[in-house]
Amino acid sequence: MNIGIVGLGLIGGSLGLDLRSLGHQVLGVSRRQTTCRVAKERGIVDESDVDLKLMASAEVVFICTPIALIAPTVQQLVPYLAADAIITDVGSVKMPIVEAISPLWPNFVPGHPMAGTAETGVDAALRNLFVGRPYVLTPIATTPSGAVETIAQLAQSLGSQVYQCAPQAHDRAVSWISHLPVMVSASLLDACAQGETDPTVLELAKQLASSGFRDTSRVGGGNPELGLMMAQYNRPELLRSLYVYRKTLNDLISQIEAENWPGIQQTLELTAQVRPEFVKNLT
Ligand code: NAP
Repeated sequence: MNIGIVGLGLIGGSLGLDLRSLGHQVLGVSRRQTTCRVAKERGIVDESDVDLKLMASAEVVFICTPIALIAPTVQQLVPYLAADAIITDVGSVKMPIVEAISPLWPNFVPGHPMAGTAETGVDAALRNLFVGRPYVLTPIATTPSGAVETIAQLAQSLGSQVYQCAPQAHDRAVSWISHLPVMVSASLLDACAQGETDPTVLELAKQLASSGFRDTSRVGGGNPELGLMMAQYNRPELLRSLYVYRKTLNDLISQIEAENWPGIQQTLELTAQVRPEFVKNLT
């Protein structure tokens, strides 16, 4: 197929590497000329340019820009596309994107590959990034089923496990397992950095921090833009999960204040039981 990719960063670049390996012709557009050049040198694309005109012969276009630019990019792209071209995106939040793009292009399949690293930009692109990872499609009632099938087959050919759900269900689910953990981990780091008033103890804490702290602080100490994007674009679902989290934290505090050891034991037995259900697909 002739496949277009707009935004040759971590996700767009990784898609290009794998799609070319599968024998597709890949056309790439990015904002900066240097990125287009590096993408060509690294074998991410067959052709690249900063001009969206390059997408005129694409049968499928993946929009892989930062989330705020996905809808504006589609708006600029539409005049160049063949009438039967399929647009799909990789944005980490789906509701606002579906609402903005569906009126612009009926042949639009919203998508979210659940894979990534802490790095960004074309240099971060990796082969096989999507192998064994979930790839979620969130079509709505008006999304053509043939277009969904095409994107599902492409996602499967990358080695991904394809899931389909409503955009709202996607945003609510990722709020629990991705966006809430980022906020909890960030507030943990904030509490540790601001809460201790004795500088000697604070320094000692930093020296004693080990693997447990490394694991629980990892997602809160990552790219600030990603956390901001989650708060801005998934605000209602994130707030909903944060309110529930605040209640569970308050319940734990009350149990400790009341020295309710059986209550705490019961809570911790429950959390030990549910964790494997959430991480069973991870190696
Ligand atoms: P990224 O590495 O920063 O890549 C985004 C690329 O978009 C940049 O390299 C930039 O290219 C390009 N770009 C910026 N403005 C543009 C424009 N106006 N026109 C064309 N290209 C433009 O970010 P990413 O992590 O790949 O994220 C991209 C998308 O994937 C986001 O929507 C995000 O929600 C989604 N996503 C991310 C992850 C993750 O873990 N990172 C996982 C799943 C989905 P230049 O170098 O040319 O400026």
